[in-house]
Amino acid sequence: MLLHPHLDINAEGHLTIGGLDTVALAREFGTPAYIMDENVIRAQFRTYLTAARTHFGENALPAFASKALCFTEIYRIAAEEGLGIDCVSGGELYTAKKAGFPAARIYFHGNNKTDADLTMALDMGVGTVVVDNTDELLALDTIAKAKGKQQRILLRITPGIDPHTHRAIQTGNVDSKFGNAIVTGAAMAITKLALSLDGVCLAGFHCHVGSQIFEIDPFRDAANIMVRYIADVKRETGFEASELNLGGGLGVRYTEHDATVDYAAAIAEIAAIVRTNADACGIAMPRVILEPGRSLVAAAGITLYTVGAVKEIPGFKNYISVDGGMPDNPRYALYQSEYTALIANRADTPADYRATVAGRCCESGDLIGEDMPIGRAKRGDILAVLCTGAYNYSMASNYNRLPRPPVILVRDGKARVAVRRETFEDLVRLDT
Ligand SMILES: *Cc1c(COP(=O)(O)O)cnc(C)c1O
Repeated sequence: MLLHPHLDINAEGHLTIGGLDTVALAREFGTPAYIMDENVIRAQFRTYLTAARTHFGENALPAFASKALCFTEIYRIAAEEGLGIDCVSGGELYTAKKAGFPAARIYFHGNNKTDADLTMALDMGVGTVVVDNTDELLALDTIAKAKGKQQRILLRITPGIDPHTHRAIQTGNVDSKFGNAIVTGAAMAITKLALSLDGVCLAGFHCHVGSQIFEIDPFRDAANIMVRYIADVKRETGFEASELNLGGGLGVRYTEHDATVDYAAAIAEIAAIVRTNADACGIAMPRVILEPGRSLVAAAGITLYTVGAVKEIPGFKNYISVDGGMPDNPRYALYQSEYTALIANRADTPADYRATVAGRCCESGDLIGEDMPIGRAKRGDILAVLCTGAYNYSMASNYNRLPRPPVILVRDGKARVAVRRETFEDLVRLDT
């Protein structure tokens, strides 16, 4: 097994995804290309949905954080599988609408929603707006009232947790641009304000502690703090929240150094904590929403490139340059994120070489990874980067006027285009 069970090596020594030969896929669709196993995405959607319903209750709902991977077909798949979605912009809302996604199951996020965004959400009938701040709350109230509507909302609360030190720091993260901190009193103030407005209907609270988290502790702390907050609000105002959105953030396996997460077990653990705390605090078990992005789609995807130049600088570095780079995967440039790469047409040869995999942009920082263990490469080889299903296509740009790669969905032995490759003509389409 290569990192994930849907990846394998066939008799010709080629990497396969969902049973399909990646070398043949590269020939058919060209490179660079994002290839995603739709069965893996659907299976992960079901894992979350089943575990959420089993452990939190039948009304629990995972909402796919679609900033991780956004195109029309992914919203259709999420709709078919019965998930909710989280959108963070007019563009994501528009795409979801085009896909026919049921608006009632949309959670609309963002720390700076414009009046146009809020109007769009109201006109679309978006189920829940997750309100970030007082300015937004008042704007939404005004716009909703003018339309004779009352918008269901959650309030974004900052529980004060640093997920990377794995402990709750009561003052930690209070400086976040997102949400309203409990410790400063901002959370209680915006809660009381929301309860006083007619244009909105407060259903409960939201928090999101971070991303690529492998430990349960930050989620345990967040669940503890949020349930206690619900109890505090009940005591102080008489309002008992009926919904608690615990955000996303569970990690995925990018390299062999990352753990394999048992998502159903993690959800069971978090549910047990919420239940125990709700009982202890004397509040009813709220409807729980989970908001995973990365862990739903990352593992399903790989990116295929063609190797161009191989450059060895003796005593320094070896470079393998590919026909994509930071425009299709900016995560190394942004966060030094680690990936696993291999030569797809000789996937059965050992990774006994080390190379920095570089893109084709005019930036020294345009790298997929540095000193990655990989097989020896030559011009014309197909290089695969694994676990690129999340925050790759959705973060892609046209830097250096590189057309964005297509998204190919593989399912039951067949491949289809979900997003076609951009053409040079697409690149000049908006120019006057
Ligand atoms: C990014 C984000 C998520 C998803 O995070 P993942 O780490 O991809 O699971 C969920 N909720 C909110 C509000 C987010 O900003």
